[in-house]
Amino acid sequence: MKHTLGFNSHSPMKFVGLDTRYKVASGTELVRLHLDGAASPLPSQTAIDTMMELLPHYSNTHSYVHNSAQISTKALAWAHEQVLLFLNASPTVYTSVFTGAGTTAAINRVSRGLAIARPDKKIVLVSSMEHHANDLPHRSHNNEVSYIPLVGEGANRGAIDLDAYRSLLEQYSGSVNYVAVSSVSNVTGILNPIDEMTSLAHLHGALILVDGAQSVAHRITNLDRQDVDFFIFSGHKVYTPSSPGVLVAKKEVLTTLNGQDLGGGSVSSVSYFDYELIPSYPDREQSGTPNIIGAVALASVLNQLQHQPMSEVERHSASTMSYLIEELKNLPKITIYGDNSLDRTGAISFNHERIDHGLLAAILNDYYAIAVRNECFCAHPYVSELLKKELWEIDLTDIKEEEHEFYVNRKRGMVRVSISLYNTRADVDRLITALREIEYELDNLEKNYEAQPDGSYEHKEFKIDWKAELKFLT
Ligand code: PMP
Repeated sequence: MKHTLGFNSHSPMKFVGLDTRYKVASGTELVRLHLDGAASPLPSQTAIDTMMELLPHYSNTHSYVHNSAQISTKALAWAHEQVLLFLNASPTVYTSVFTGAGTTAAINRVSRGLAIARPDKKIVLVSSMEHHANDLPHRSHNNEVSYIPLVGEGANRGAIDLDAYRSLLEQYSGSVNYVAVSSVSNVTGILNPIDEMTSLAHLHGALILVDGAQSVAHRITNLDRQDVDFFIFSGHKVYTPSSPGVLVAKKEVLTTLNGQDLGGGSVSSVSYFDYELIPSYPDREQSGTPNIIGAVALASVLNQLQHQPMSEVERHSASTMSYLIEELKNLPKITIYGDNSLDRTGAISFNHERIDHGLLAAILNDYYAIAVRNECFCAHPYVSELLKKELWEIDLTDIKEEEHEFYVNRKRGMVRVSISLYNTRADVDRLITALREIEYELDNLEKNYEAQPDGSYEHKEFKIDWKAELKFLT
């Protein structure tokens, strides 16, 4: 049987949706510019081709009886292998598990398991720049969370403060269950010193969980070198919509954890009184029917990225990002959040002194077909810290008292621009031109909008006819 899984892994990646066009408020139609990859980048054509190739064979796994079951089972096993290969994780040390709702499900799984497995260690050290998915789960299970400070102050905060981190580990030595940190922030794109953090955690008997959701598509991951205990990411952040979350863990650590989802697929024998888990990975952790099609599609994308190769992906990401930062710095009245002397990848966030984040994001969409994200990006504590000084200094003297909260809400957030593999310097130029024009035309543009109580802005006349975009609704 020809079993290529759908693509030539040496060809450059193609993306679906680069030519999507939308009507804009001025009446014309523009090609949409997608600068929202940190939320979910555009799908790769490889993912779609792989899905289409596997779908005619679609079958549940865990069976070798009929041909389709064999093909699906083998393809899923191949997907597990590709994940480890992509992350430079030796299969003798690590295993990969496909989880439900992205990174969130996998982090919840690990945090629950570690609390049960190491009840004498109550402290969890969490970085101060985390997405809620890598913060809130750790606050459960009677854990005591201590937040690791960042270097710097106010809007110029940088990465994890390694001295403060070392002090926390010394202060709580022996009581720290694990450390939770993202390799790259989903707000500022700032990178954390994962190698140093891992060796320090291990020195103090703590484990480390790395949320790789924002790094995995942009940076080479080398788990064998880094030695992290848990590395977690979402397939949808790597150009594969409808794909699962991925938990990669050291098998020797995973073996000590209880608390995974239980059911069929992960057990070798069950009686009314007892059950036994399958001793081998990934089956031991993979109860229920996994997202087979999504997992295999993701694996084909990871395979292709390796051949891209990833060093080129890293270079593209770094150079497009520094071009974006330099161009933004040349604009007046813009504050870029985070320490600008640091390398960034994936995403950066900023504000314009005169334009609320909700208004700027709306104008970029409505008049320029530029898709960015705004508000607090599910990282409220971090965004609040970055904004604290600005919010504190808001002059409310001319604002009626009953409108104070409404007014401050409109300022509580940022605009985030993300750079994906399909973005070019020309995309950055288009954004910068739009930002210049918006500033120049602000008085005219502003009149067309109504501020909403939640901080968003709605155009008074223009709205996308979303039903017209979807033929299946007709
Ligand atoms: N962590 C980070 C750093 C993220 O950027 C995201 C997604 N915005 C998540 C976790 C959550 O991922 P998911 O929604 O796929 O569970």
